[in-house]
Amino acid sequence: MRERIIIANWKMNGTLESARAWIEAYRTLPAAANCRAVLCAPFVYLPEIVERLRGTPLEVGAQDVNENPSGAYTGEISAGMLADIGVSWCIVGHSERRRYYGDTDNRVAMKALAAAKAGIRPIVCVGETLEERERGETQTVILRQLNAVLAVMMPASIGAVAYEPVWAIGTGHVADPETAQAVHASIRRRIELVDQARAMTLPILYGGSVTPDNAAGLFAMPDIDGALVGGASLKATSFFAIGQA
Ligand code: PEP
Repeated sequence: MRERIIIANWKMNGTLESARAWIEAYRTLPAAANCRAVLCAPFVYLPEIVERLRGTPLEVGAQDVNENPSGAYTGEISAGMLADIGVSWCIVGHSERRRYYGDTDNRVAMKALAAAKAGIRPIVCVGETLEERERGETQTVILRQLNAVLAVMMPASIGAVAYEPVWAIGTGHVADPETAQAVHASIRRRIELVDQARAMTLPILYGGSVTPDNAAGLFAMPDIDGALVGGASLKATSFFAIGQA
């Protein structure tokens, strides 16, 4: 059976105090059965979060990483630095990074590779905009984004793929389970062409307005193995409830 994973993406939200309160609240909840959980927090809070979660089942991830190992990249964080402090997952290619910070398909691929080389599991985000969906380009866009990553690394080194339709992120318009399932199945078929065994085990997560209310319907689909959760992850109890679903 494929691993189930839920990933919290706090984005640029919270304070040191709210991060501590979230962790304390989450720690009082029972460990989620049959579901791995990862918290992707802002860089500056990661060292403290890693320490506070040591020995707990909640794993820690970053929201981005630089593709270079070191050098004159002012303000950036390398995969080696993340590994150094005990971070084990990293989101790459989130649509907000692609849209606001110029992350191209190729750069996303290099970021995923840099993370994997440092022993960090990359969570590779792919997804189409509303205009692309309306033009019937969903498959083309998803495959183009995925192919860039597969051109530089094997699927075994990808921690998870997250299908995040841009029109569903932070909008309250969750994709209906069948629509998401169709894309997830096509992602798995693409992985199968490279590595059939890994295609069976690779977690493919859905992201975009997931809440405790709509999660079970999504997770009932055969190729939806969990969720990347933005807004609803800001409350520990909501994130936990999504894991229960
Ligand atoms: C995200 O940013 O990855 C995300 C899925 O956000 P939200 O759950 O708020 O739509």
